[in-house]
Amino acid sequence: MEIKRLVCVECPVGCEIEVAIENGAIQSIKGNSCPRGYKYAQEEVIAPKRIVTTTVRAENGKLVPVKTSGGVLKDEIFAVMEKINAVRVKTPVLVGQTLVKEIAEGVDLVATATIG
Ligand code: SF4
Repeated sequence: MEIKRLVCVECPVGCEIEVAIENGAIQSIKGNSCPRGYKYAQEEVIAPKRIVTTTVRAENGKLVPVKTSGGVLKDEIFAVMEKINAVRVKTPVLVGQTLVKEIAEGVDLVATATIG
């Protein structure tokens, strides 16, 4: 039995969660104070995801800070970064503006700053 220890990042409380894994299957999840922590621990063990934060180039040469609207599977981050690196946007760009729909499954690429 393998025990994986995680700190839940779903809220500022930061519960310490222990996941017991046997033969690749989750046996138990302990330490979470709410269902969000349970789901976080499940995903982190089975299919970990990360928000991707980077910049894209505008056609006028300016850099536009961006992030994905949700987590991207860790195994897919390299492919998503290649797509992001090929993106060119027209300014002005508004904070929160969707720049690419579905850059990954169920995830858009959005601007995190207004760039004129
Ligand atoms: S388990 Fe719930 S209360 Fe604990 S850090 Fe995660 S979201 Fe917050």
